[in-house]
Amino acid sequence: MARVFYDHVWKRFDEVEALKDFHLEIEDKEFLVLVGPSGCGKSTALRLLAGLDSITEGDIYIGDRRVNNVPAKDRDIAMVFQSYALYPHMTIYGNIAFGLKLRKVPKEEIDRRVKQAAEILGVEALLKRKPGQLSGGQRQRIALGRAIVREPQVFLLDEPLSNLDAKLRVNTRAEISKLHKRLGTTFVYVTHDQTEAMTMADRIAVMSAGVIQQVGTPQHLYDEPVNVFVAGFIGSPAMNFFSAKIKSSDGELELDGGTFVLKVPKERAPALQPLVGREMLFGIRPENIHDNEFVPTGIHAASIEVEIDVTELMGNEVFLHTMAGDQKLLARVDPRTRAKPGDKFEVVADLERMHVFDPETREAVTTARERDS
Ligand code: ATP
Repeated sequence: MARVFYDHVWKRFDEVEALKDFHLEIEDKEFLVLVGPSGCGKSTALRLLAGLDSITEGDIYIGDRRVNNVPAKDRDIAMVFQSYALYPHMTIYGNIAFGLKLRKVPKEEIDRRVKQAAEILGVEALLKRKPGQLSGGQRQRIALGRAIVREPQVFLLDEPLSNLDAKLRVNTRAEISKLHKRLGTTFVYVTHDQTEAMTMADRIAVMSAGVIQQVGTPQHLYDEPVNVFVAGFIGSPAMNFFSAKIKSSDGELELDGGTFVLKVPKERAPALQPLVGREMLFGIRPENIHDNEFVPTGIHAASIEVEIDVTELMGNEVFLHTMAGDQKLLARVDPRTRAKPGDKFEVVADLERMHVFDPETREAVTTARERDS
């Protein structure tokens, strides 16, 4: 068990800056997820922590120990990768025990740890089999088992679920969360999948182009993204963005999107007042746009005339892909909707929950949460 501290870390591969001033403290026992698109530097951050690559500038601490020059094998961490890399000719028991044997751990101790890990993961019945006789999900559990028996201070997981099919991924996600609680160890988990990040993390660090964009709890990032990148990355389907000019009319504020005009709810007006006359970028999540026949009570709805492009039935909801003039809007609406492709239709947006960004800096000006404060 240990905290992990990246102190202003840089990593350069020749001209590529894979990490730029990466500064992050991960608390003891925390489940921290590094998330971002391909190439943003998340695996590099994990590899530096594991000691598989050298740091260009800055320091990394595990517990109170500066580990910059500590070899990987002495860092007291265990890593689980996307590929399980089990030895095909060894039994599952042999695979789980392998790392401990190399470390010359006494036989009885190995046996105790392997059996305990197998019990935690529910794979006791598989110990005599060979990897070829296991399903993908079972193999992934064995890879976790191999990490558990090391009894490390920190677990590092790099996209461990990407080889699993969708259903197994959901189950294994839950299992890893349970495992984290049971072991009470610090987990650092890398993924490009925001759903994994949202469902598993205590805190998420969102990365883009080698830079941490925002760190916070899943709910915090969802409610108060600090910029357009985080707003568009967290949440699925992604937030809608549209440009509109803020205007004042008869003492009320309006958003003029060119082909539609929306009234700003009173609660949001004070924050927008100083921006009157400016063209801003607005964000509204699909779940905050409703069919006008099925509007939840208590929201400040603003009507938008749209044309329905495509409807996608998801069972418990329908995704409406619409055009409001020349702006695309995706709405997640009640499954009883009567919208059909080609229809002119009225949706209502809960503008209390809209986000406002500066179009030049892409930084948030006000977020949905501020209406509550
Ligand atoms: P992915 O999800 O695709 O694995 P990632 O976010 O984990 O992406 P990294 O693997 O950390 O990204 O790579 C970050 C950047 O550093 C990329 O531009 C990558 O091309 C570059 N990079 C990584 N390893 C090396 C290397 N050994 N030599 C040169 N450039 C590298």
